Amino acid sequence: MKRLPVWRRPYFAKRILDIGPGHNPFHGATHLLEMDLADGRERCGQELVVPESAALIVGEATALPFKTGSFDYVYASHVFEHVMAPRWACNEVMRVSEAGYIETPSPFREQGLALKDEQSPEHWYHRWFVFSPDKNLLVFEPKTPEEVSRFCSCPAGEFLREFYASLDFREAEHFFRRKAKTTIFYWSGSFQYEVRDRTMDCRKDGRVCRYWGMKQALLANCHDLLRANRIRRLRKRFPECREVFRKYGHHTLLIN
Ligand SMILES: [Zn+2]
Repeated sequence: MKRLPVWRRPYFAKRILDIGPGHNPFHGATHLLEMDLADGRERCGQELVVPESAALIVGEATALPFKTGSFDYVYASHVFEHVMAPRWACNEVMRVSEAGYIETPSPFREQGLALKDEQSPEHWYHRWFVFSPDKNLLVFEPKTPEEVSRFCSCPAGEFLREFYASLDFREAEHFFRRKAKTTIFYWSGSFQYEVRDRTMDCRKDGRVCRYWGMKQALLANCHDLLRANRIRRLRKRFPECREVFRKYGHHTLLIN
């Protein structure tokens, strides 16, 4: 069963919807919504798990089969990156619920895994890079083979471009903690969203790019000794990324 951190749990929620629970439903969910009961393609073929206390309903995140205000809380983990029309999914969770939680893989992880592996179809079940540059804002940028290799021209974008080129992300991702690999978004009342048709370049388009946040997520791995040690091992395994850190001035965080 999935849970939220103790201080984040919806203790007062009586009606809780979990969208796309798959084999691991949210603790306390009263309603589970699954898109497809038979075909587990997008959940890696794993069996559905339905606790006795919960009702299972078939439907889609972009057209929730519930009346307005049916829920106190809606939990949606690793769902929004799959949907065709995220604006509808956002509108729908706000329509049926008072508050909620949205989790997706982080752009840092999505791009890292797909970048040198554009031929593998499993990358494209995830249609969006999802990130939250602001407390109340969720941004979606398309994740396609073309967009995966597009970087912002700002220093953070250039840093990430060279960082990915310096290592094998599939192996390197084990050096990063979950926070760097996940986008976590809590909302209450309502939230803003922005669905873009391509990767924004903060310099040319004047709108926030995702790379600043990606760089922060990566460097957040170095803020204590234990994590700094992971980065030390990462640089040992991939000596070329040491040069990238040095070039972009992150060597002070990553003391030898
Ligand atoms: Zn930028």
